Amino acid sequence: MNNIELRRDRDQVDGLTQDQTDVDIAIVGGGIAGCWLLRLLSNKGYRVVLFEERELGCDQTLASQGMIHGGLKYALSGILNGSSEAIAGMPARWRSCIAGDDDINLEGLPLLADTYHMFAERSTLGRLTTFFASKALRGRIDRLDPNQWPSEFAGFTGTVYDLNDFVVDVPALLSRLVSGLEHCTYQQRVDATNLVATPDGYQIMTGKTTFKVSTLISCAGSGSRELIDTLAIDELQTQSRPLKQVVVRPKHGVRMNAHCVTGVTGNEPRLTITSYGEGADLVWYVGGLLATTGVQRSDAAQIEFARRELAQCIPWLDWRGADYTTFQVDRAEPLQRGGVRPDEAYVAKIDNFVQCFPTKLTLAPDLGDQVLRALPPADQKLAALPAHQQTVNVGTFRW
Ligand SMILES: Cc1cc2nc3c(=O)[nH]c(=O)nc-3n(C[C@H](O)[C@H](O)[C@H](O)COP(=O)(O)OP(=O)(O)OC[C@H]3O[C@@H](n4cnc5c(N)ncnc54)[C@H](O)[C@@H]3O)c2cc1C
Repeated sequence: MNNIELRRDRDQVDGLTQDQTDVDIAIVGGGIAGCWLLRLLSNKGYRVVLFEERELGCDQTLASQGMIHGGLKYALSGILNGSSEAIAGMPARWRSCIAGDDDINLEGLPLLADTYHMFAERSTLGRLTTFFASKALRGRIDRLDPNQWPSEFAGFTGTVYDLNDFVVDVPALLSRLVSGLEHCTYQQRVDATNLVATPDGYQIMTGKTTFKVSTLISCAGSGSRELIDTLAIDELQTQSRPLKQVVVRPKHGVRMNAHCVTGVTGNEPRLTITSYGEGADLVWYVGGLLATTGVQRSDAAQIEFARRELAQCIPWLDWRGADYTTFQVDRAEPLQRGGVRPDEAYVAKIDNFVQCFPTKLTLAPDLGDQVLRALPPADQKLAALPAHQQTVNVGTFRW
């Protein structure tokens, strides 16, 4: 790889005195993909900087439900497909990060839920009952006896399953990934005004520093399209798939982390629920089919629909006085035939440019593995990057 000595040459750019900093890698975008790669590549000895225009996680990552899952929710048609299998090993992989046994050490990361449930009115499960009990799913889903049900199901009369999935605290995860690397983050938009391709890489101009970059990694989510167009990389095509999520503040004080699959006929849970806070601060964040189909509804219609769905699917809790809001967010992905959901993390290297789409928070370890395989090895003779004032904060949930 190129010159990895930190050079702070004085250069004349547009009449301004510029510092020049040479880096192996510049990452654009500070969602889960960018933060994961910043940590991983720094651990591996690369000199890396990350540019984020707003706050870490502020787009898809902090809108996500934080579920680390093994893809079973993609197998509700009763068939294990590419999507459900590529992801099957991810909960175990994350658990080894949390145990401190992987390249990324997440020891002590707080979990919002250590396990995840799936429930349905028994009469509506049909052949899924046999499928969930099959050998192929051993260790991924367990049917619970009613005496093992968690307290939030008191009053329910159907079937409850335990999944080997869990829910991470996303802001805590991002903080953990950048901890000690804050000086490698810059609050800076990267676009046609400050990015140029050079014969041996790229230059990014920020304030009074010019970064000379060997490899540019785009983790810019929905901003990736603009970056790709700026650099005229015609091979890369993208798609976006919107979701209209619902935020509920119930008065009943009960937390739940579960998929509702009552009456499902397709390949998606009817409701996917994660819970945050306690008492007056309790929030239920609801996605699933409700959010996929919700993009066809106005905000008011989506709220009315969510109200009816919760009352129908979870009638044993009291929904009176609950407050509802909704917002729409795009999932940014590589183009798939028919606009369908991609199965795996996506990494494409074209010369000195790497485009990354994790496609799911869960697949961040897979994304990291793929990027490491795509890059030339790091040179170990690195000097520390200088401290600066432009470091990026971790964002907060949208509600
Ligand atoms: C509603 C919802 C729920 C989800 N729930 C789950 C879940 O429970 N489990 C799961 O595994 N996956 C889930 N996902 C998918 C997961 O959230 C995404 O795959 C993942 O967060 C994408 O991360 P990212 O880093 O690629 O993109 P983002 O998080 O979108 O980050 C991109 C960043 O790039 C920055 N940026 C863009 N352009 C520029 C530029 N020009 N210069 C500088 N910075 C720029 C943006 O500000 C942004 O911070 C969910 C997605 C959504 C939308």
